[in-house]
Amino acid sequence: PPTPSTEKDHVFRSKLPEIPISNHLPLHTYCFQNLSEFSERPCLIVGSTGKVFTFGETHLISTNVGAGLSSLGIKKGDVIMILLQNCAEFAFTFMGASMIGAVTTTANPFYTPTEIFKQLNACRAKLIVTQSQYVDKLKENPKFGEDFKVITIDDPPENCLPFTVLSEPAKETEIPIVSIDSQDPVALPFSSGTTGLPKGVILTHKSLITSVAQQVDGENPNLYLRPEDVVLCVLPLFHIYSLNSVLLCSLRAGAAVLLMQKFEIGAFLELIQRHKVSVAAVVPPLVLALAKNPMVAQFDLSSIRVVLSGAAPLGKELELALRDRLPQAIFGQGYGMTEAGPVLSMSLGFAKQPFPTKSGSCGTVVRNAELKVIDPETGCSLNYNQSGEICIRGSQIMKGYLNDPEATASTTDVEGWLHTGDIGYVDDDEEVFIVDRVKEIIKFKGFQVPPAELEALLVSHPSIADAAVVPQKDEVAGEVPVAFIVQSKGFELTEEAVKEFISKQVVFYKRLHKVYFVHAIPKSPSGKILRKDLRAKLATAAHT
Ligand code: ATP
Ligand code: MG
Repeated sequence: PPTPSTEKDHVFRSKLPEIPISNHLPLHTYCFQNLSEFSERPCLIVGSTGKVFTFGETHLISTNVGAGLSSLGIKKGDVIMILLQNCAEFAFTFMGASMIGAVTTTANPFYTPTEIFKQLNACRAKLIVTQSQYVDKLKENPKFGEDFKVITIDDPPENCLPFTVLSEPAKETEIPIVSIDSQDPVALPFSSGTTGLPKGVILTHKSLITSVAQQVDGENPNLYLRPEDVVLCVLPLFHIYSLNSVLLCSLRAGAAVLLMQKFEIGAFLELIQRHKVSVAAVVPPLVLALAKNPMVAQFDLSSIRVVLSGAAPLGKELELALRDRLPQAIFGQGYGMTEAGPVLSMSLGFAKQPFPTKSGSCGTVVRNAELKVIDPETGCSLNYNQSGEICIRGSQIMKGYLNDPEATASTTDVEGWLHTGDIGYVDDDEEVFIVDRVKEIIKFKGFQVPPAELEALLVSHPSIADAAVVPQKDEVAGEVPVAFIVQSKGFELTEEAVKEFISKQVVFYKRLHKVYFVHAIPKSPSGKILRKDLRAKLATAAHT
C-alpha cells in the first residue's frame, strides 16, 4: 500500500491513558498471572452438563496437557490443530500448547476434509485434537496415522488416542522448560473467508497479550470484566473473536466462561437464565435473534449487564430493538479483524468508568495503539468525520500471513500500519464508525452504495427477518443494489413494498433494483453475510 509522509498523518488514539503491558511474558503466564486471587472460582462452565472447572483446575489440567503433548513428541514451534466445537478441552489444549511453546491452529469442525487438510498442510500440524464424529473426515487422508496423530475428547475410534493421554500423563512426565520469546507464534487462526479463501494469520505471544491487555487491563479497563461475571461463550472458539475476547480475556480477568457448543435459541436463552450470564459476546445474527424472536420474552435475561457485538456490521435500528428487549444492559460494539490481533476498537461504554457512546458506533480505538483513516486512492491521512480506509498500528497486530510474504507486504506497510480494507471514519468524540468493506461497496455509476447500510434498514422492517444486499451487473449503471430477503413468519411482503420501504429512506442511487425472496441468508460461523455466495448465485441466475 502507498505510504505517504507521516508528518501530516492524523492519528487517532483511545481516550483512555496508555498502560504498561506485560507483553514480554509468554501468553499462558500472562493469562494465569492473577490465578492466586481466584483459583477456587469457576473458570469454565460446560453448558451441556453443568460441569464446572475452577481456575486452579483449569491451570492444572492445561499444565498436564502441556506435559502430555510433549510426551507425544510435540516440541517448541510445532503446530497442533484444534478441530472442536466449544468445550473445556479446547481451552486446556490451547493453554497447554502455549506452555510448551507449541502453536495452535483452530479450524471449524464442520469443514470438509479438503478444507481441513488444506489448513493442516499449510500449518504442518502434527497433531489434531477433535471429537470422534469428525474422525471419518480425517481418515480420508492417506497419511492418517502417519503424518499426524489424532486425539479425541470422547471415546477414540481406531488409531486415535483418548484425551486422557494429554490430561492425565504418566506421573513421571514433566512439562519441559522452554524459553519462549515474545515474538514466537502461539496461534495460527484463519480469517473468516468472507471475501476470498481464509488466510492463515500468525499471532505471537506478544500480539495476543497486547490485545487482551488493551481490553481488560488497567485501572480503567476498556472492557471491564469482574470475577463475579459469567461470560457467554457461544461464538465458536475456533474464530479469534471468541478465543481472544471471551476466553483469554476472561482467564486474565478471573471471570467464568459459560461454554455452549452451538447456538440454538431455546437452549441459549435457558442457559443465560440458569447461569445468570452477565456478559454476552454476540454477532449480528444473534442480535437479530435476540431482537426478533418471540421466545426471548419468556426468559429472564435480567442478569445481562453487557452485550458486546462484533465481527460484522450492525445497524442502529437493530441495536435499538435489542436495547428495548434488554433495557438494563449496556450495549456496544467491538471492531476486529483476525490480522489485527483481532480488536481494533471497542465501546467505551464497557469501561469501568464508562464514557457515553453513540448507537451505530464500533467503539473507540483500543489503548496503546494508533488508528488512522486514509484516502484509499492517495494514501493520505484523513481527519475527523472523513471516510476512508482504516489502518491500525500497535504490538497487537499479526506478525504476518502464514506462508505468504507477498500478502503480508501488501497488507502491512513499512511503517507498521495494517491496512484493514474497511471503510470508516472517526467522529468528533473519537468513535469509530464502519461504513463497509472496500471490496463490498457497490458502485452505481460514480456513486457508492454500502450494502451494510441498506441491510440495516431492511431488517428494521417488521416483516423482514433477515436481508442481504449485493451488486448486480447493469449495463447503464455498472452495478445496481439488489436485495435477498427472508420474510418473517406469517407476513406477506411484495417486491414493490420492499423497494418502496427503502426508496422512501435513501437517495436515488441507493434504491433497490430487484428483490429476491429466499429462505435464509448464507452466513459464516463467525457471523458474516457471505455476499460472495449471493453474488455467485446471481451470476449463475440460480436464485429462483
Ligand atoms: P476474509 O479476510 O478471509 O475475507 P473476514 O475479513 O470476514 O474474512 P475476519 O478477520 O473474521 O475475516 O473479519 C474481519 C472483518 O470483519 C473486518 O475487516 C470487518 O470487515 C468485519 N467487522 C468486524 N467487526 C465489525 C464491526 N463491528 N462492524 C463492521 N464490520 C466488522
Ligand atoms: Mg479480512
